[in-house]
Amino acid sequence: RVATRYRRDPTCMLQILREVQEACDWLPPEAIDRLQVVLGVPRTKIEGVAGFYAFLYTQPRGKYRILFSDNVTDRMQGSVALMERLCSSLWIEPGKVSEDGLLSVDITSCTGMCDQGPGLLVNNYAIPRLTAGLVDEIAELIRNKVPLAEWPADYFRVDDNVRRADVLLAAQMAPGDALRAARARAPSDGLMASNMRSWREGLPSGLGGPIAMLDDMKRANLRGRGGAGFMTGIKWEACRNAPLKPGQERFVVCNADEGEPGTFKDRVLLTSHADLVFEGMTAAAYAIGARRGFLYLRGEYRYLLEPLTAVLERRRREKVLGNDILGLPGADFDIEIHLGAGAYVCGEESALIESLEGKRGTPRNRPPFPVTNGYLDQPTIVNNVETFAAAALVALNGGDWYASIGTKHSAGTKLLSVSGDCERPGIYEYPFGVSIRQVLDDCGARDTQAVQVSGPSGVCIAPAEFDRVIGFEDIPTAGAFTIFDNSRDMFEVARNYVHFFQHESCGFCTPCRVGTSLLKNLMDKLHNGVGSPYDFAEIEKLNQLLQAMSHCGLGHTACNPVLDTIARFRPAYEQRMTQQDFTPAFDLDRALAEARQMTGRDDAGAHLSSTHGGAA
Ligand code: SF4
Repeated sequence: RVATRYRRDPTCMLQILREVQEACDWLPPEAIDRLQVVLGVPRTKIEGVAGFYAFLYTQPRGKYRILFSDNVTDRMQGSVALMERLCSSLWIEPGKVSEDGLLSVDITSCTGMCDQGPGLLVNNYAIPRLTAGLVDEIAELIRNKVPLAEWPADYFRVDDNVRRADVLLAAQMAPGDALRAARARAPSDGLMASNMRSWREGLPSGLGGPIAMLDDMKRANLRGRGGAGFMTGIKWEACRNAPLKPGQERFVVCNADEGEPGTFKDRVLLTSHADLVFEGMTAAAYAIGARRGFLYLRGEYRYLLEPLTAVLERRRREKVLGNDILGLPGADFDIEIHLGAGAYVCGEESALIESLEGKRGTPRNRPPFPVTNGYLDQPTIVNNVETFAAAALVALNGGDWYASIGTKHSAGTKLLSVSGDCERPGIYEYPFGVSIRQVLDDCGARDTQAVQVSGPSGVCIAPAEFDRVIGFEDIPTAGAFTIFDNSRDMFEVARNYVHFFQHESCGFCTPCRVGTSLLKNLMDKLHNGVGSPYDFAEIEKLNQLLQAMSHCGLGHTACNPVLDTIARFRPAYEQRMTQQDFTPAFDLDRALAEARQMTGRDDAGAHLSSTHGGAA
């Protein structure tokens, strides 16, 4: 039935697998057998897709599937002790399924609740603000097998925590206003109507509304908010000018897969400003001549699927989405929501497109770029949630107005997801050009040792640099702003980020797959007190290899947290180099302890050190 609802379309494979799992708690072999027949896709391909995504299970999991968020801020807020508390209360080991099949507990990467952590996901639904008391209540509900739908609704309440609003978060815009404003600025209504016809047909039109819209975007100097900062108007124009083969069309894709640890501003935009985002997508469709759009929502935001679907339905009723938008014949554009399934790499635009097509989220070779060869090899624009919301403002107020905000090279405002050691974590919107120091003052940070801007793949800033500013001319950011005070160990912060990259490497290319694992092992070795200058040199060599040889941005940036912390907090590494000579990470003598216990021997001859003169 699920496959039929998705028109038996293999490009909807991820959505179909997700829904089957929601019904069965996992993906049993008989379900995969059935999908093989109804989708006409080889079993290996289905299993390949299912095996790629962390939130899809081809082995039985518990009826209650608990995943503790393991971002560095969750750890700072006590997540490790809370997970141990739940596990000991319910007699389960992390990473295992209980013998009665009731429960599984594990960790997952950042769930986007850093301003109200620590957090967890239960069957993919987020529970923030965990405390020992709340964990005990959850254990009791699980023990009594209370269905998730009957758990107290307040457990699942996610707050916006908007602390500073500027033009974007304070925008007042009725549905359809952006397009109405664009109409008003078009050279003439007649020309606009002809462009509306060309929108439906997906053909380039002459000068007029869509071209005026592209000019506005370029004049606005609006740059992508996902981190790379590409000029939005130029991207849209390239897509509009990309030739179409017979039967092809153009697509608009909103990247709502914000997986960078420490980032949660898209969560707030989609919760309370979804109309602004959809308005921006509709403006983009108008500018490039697209009829279909997708919002790719990260799996950790599963709880937003129904509210966002309701917003889309309302917009169709209001005639600002669907057919004949604003009552103009042929002005057709609609949006589908696709839910991700726990793969950070799908935030990379070509991997996201692969995932949208129902495949493993492996980044593509580029060029060609999505603007010419995107979704189903057709011209596609992919923009971040915040970019589309800003584009709606540009459409409403014009490019010159928008360009007057911020700095010369960074127009407009930026949303920052502020978390970590401060009194008031949450969302702060500033015109570009705000200093790190100003943000720290506003959020009540004290004794700050470091700020990680833009998550693990961004930069680590020390106090001497706090007068630097947020902007493409100095510190560009996708939005994460994680604060560490003097009590934090910056080596452990970097180690957490290295674990994150190793976990999220998609495994497609060897330098990243092996390099992130080796990097993690070396950092763990230093952590375990058996590091030497040799290991330190190995870390630096690995960093160079990852940067030079990786296929996509994940591999290129995986070493950033280590390089930055070595440069700024070198003593945190040096104090861990307790050995002068190389010492293996694996202690064979210690590993044989269990065997000695079983045989009842603990004499000198049963130890490697006495027979071989060393531990290994
Ligand atoms: Fe995958 Fe890493 Fe290679 Fe990117 S660099 S394609 S994440 S293995």
